[in-house]
Amino acid sequence: NAKQQGRNTYCLFTESMSNTLQRRLMLEESMQGALERGEFEVYYQPQLDLQARKVVGAEALLRWHSETLGPISPAEFIPLAEQTGFIIDLGKFVLNSAASTLQQIHTQFNTSLRLAVNLSPRQFNDPELLSHVEHLIAHCALQPGTLELEITEGLLLSGDSTIKATLTTLQKMGVLISMDDFGTGYSSLNYLRQYPFDVLKIDQSFIADMHAGNESAYLVKNIITMAHGLGLKVIAEGIEDHEQLNRLVEFNCNIGQGYLIGQPMPEAAFQDWLEHNFTRPENIMNKSLSIQ
Ligand code: C2E
Ligand code: MG
Ligand code: MG
Ligand code: MG
Repeated sequence: NAKQQGRNTYCLFTESMSNTLQRRLMLEESMQGALERGEFEVYYQPQLDLQARKVVGAEALLRWHSETLGPISPAEFIPLAEQTGFIIDLGKFVLNSAASTLQQIHTQFNTSLRLAVNLSPRQFNDPELLSHVEHLIAHCALQPGTLELEITEGLLLSGDSTIKATLTTLQKMGVLISMDDFGTGYSSLNYLRQYPFDVLKIDQSFIADMHAGNESAYLVKNIITMAHGLGLKVIAEGIEDHEQLNRLVEFNCNIGQGYLIGQPMPEAAFQDWLEHNFTRPENIMNKSLSIQ
């Protein structure tokens, strides 16, 4: 009957709520220890210069392989870490890993690649961020233009007047600033006007939806033209097939990233990948760039 049904619905509702809450508490509780136990690992996803047709860098993406809970997606644990403040420790771990990887690559291949690290709002507003980055640049002898920091609109929403000063200080240190997930927020265009970005990353949802002559293709093409007019480099993320890749090359997109080019991979695998594709660029070209 209705009364019983109502009660059942109610029970299911609270049960699923408490499941969510339980999982959340469980993750929060195990995070700190997880960092100490070495369960977090930075993966690297290659980025390709689409015009010069060579590897230019990678994005650092954090992974958590929990001993007890299995692999946990950053989409789940990053927002939690952001809420609890643990993102500060996690973020330092990612920055340190990326800086040491940059240094190793520089030594091994005698050339500089660029590594991009995602910064959440809380990390960005951490008063120690600037001194930490400065320390890493000196300690790991990072060349100007080799460390890139990705921020999203979420940070800029606050309208905090110190943001611009922090961005400018980072740029003076030789750090590149990129706007991640461009096109998904409310006022991306306004932010391009207000803040000194070097790089614009077109959100993968536009790339995924880019078929011949549709709205997304039109938008991508014109975002690229606009960004170039503003003196920005453009990275397209989420490239999964040759049709998307060829279209982006045609639109003069600078850099591409996506499963077609390479998955995010552990540091050792990334070094092997570089060994194959960086020193012998024809390998990746044959695999991915089927233009002409
Ligand atoms: P994001 O910065 O926009 O990173 C791009 C996401 O797209 C990554 O998801 C990447 O694995 C995924 N991706 C790359 N190529 C493709 C493709 O061809 N197709 C599809 N469908 N997806 C692709 P991931 O690694 O799960 O990270 C999700 C988000 O978590 C990131 O989005 C970023 O916002 C955040 N995140 C990851 N690592 C960190 C970190 O170290 N610090 C902070 N603050 N956030 C991070
Ligand atoms: Mg990113
Ligand atoms: Mg993105
Ligand atoms: Mg994203």
